[in-house]
Amino acid sequence: MNARYDCFCKLSDLLGAQESLSEARRHLHRFPELSFQEKSTAQWVADRLEGWGYQVTRHVGGHGLVATLNNGEGKAIALRADMDALPIQEETQKPYASEHAGTMHACGHDGHTAMLLGAAQQLAKTKNFKGTVHLVFQPAEEAGKDSGAQQMIADGLFERFPCDAIFGIHNHPGVEVGTFMFGAGAFMTIGTAHAGSVSNVIPDTASLSMSIRSFSPEVRERLEQRIKDLVTAQVASFGGEVEIIYERGYPVVINSVAETEFARQVAVELVGEDKVVSPFGPVTGSEDFAYYLQHKPGCFLRLGNGTDSALLHNPKYDFNDQNLSYGAAYWTRLVERFLDAA
Ligand SMILES: [Zn+2]
Ligand SMILES: [Zn+2]
Repeated sequence: MNARYDCFCKLSDLLGAQESLSEARRHLHRFPELSFQEKSTAQWVADRLEGWGYQVTRHVGGHGLVATLNNGEGKAIALRADMDALPIQEETQKPYASEHAGTMHACGHDGHTAMLLGAAQQLAKTKNFKGTVHLVFQPAEEAGKDSGAQQMIADGLFERFPCDAIFGIHNHPGVEVGTFMFGAGAFMTIGTAHAGSVSNVIPDTASLSMSIRSFSPEVRERLEQRIKDLVTAQVASFGGEVEIIYERGYPVVINSVAETEFARQVAVELVGEDKVVSPFGPVTGSEDFAYYLQHKPGCFLRLGNGTDSALLHNPKYDFNDQNLSYGAAYWTRLVERFLDAA
């Protein structure tokens, strides 16, 4: 590798921060907040960022916040972490388990937030870039509709904080810690859609709900029509009437080719080819990062959460703290390479 690459962030640069990142993550884990209620989380995150010299704009699309760091003229990059938790009663028995009954960080957003905070601190310390960094701390990813990404965009995210590309990371159970996974094109699926309320004339009412997932906008359109036709025909054959409520979930996550290749390259530089999986996916599961990618080029990538990790949205799930220094180093290097000062 080119010697010039030596100046960019390495894993070893963040190892010293591992303990404080772990503390931060566990703090977030202990005090989870549901979608649209991330007030204390946002406050806590914003205070830290301001302490490191970021210009923090609060209440962008609800409890969202954007932390900006300028270092001369250049391009702009946005990195996003989500902050909300889920309505699940935690069963991990961890000493830092949720103190909010019935609410837990079962999707690892505590880890995503802590990783980005780690990068924030490192970037403010070293400022080894030329241009602008916008760190997007997003609420309400799990909302399902009118989610945090949609609200931040509606609140002028990309006009008020212009950027050339946006990136996001989600942890991924079942894959070794520190493994980065990339897929260009459709990477994840639409979210959940509910086909509801099938009403019979005599004597009862039946209701049916289902989730439909697809990897292309065309298939998505076709599925909706097919399901409506099938259900209507089926109910009619019994002499019944039907009402179908078809709710659209999040759109497909479509990573742009150039930014995905760039993001993959940075991961290879950081952890080596052996710990980079590409192409990876598509993955079933919904993610509102898709909305950002409708406006900007970028990449939503995945980071292994361990082969022994419980699945996402499971009461036994826990984010793997070893990933904090991997994630923070990756974010830092991604910024340095994207806003290469040389
Ligand atoms: Zn989730
Ligand atoms: Zn998630």
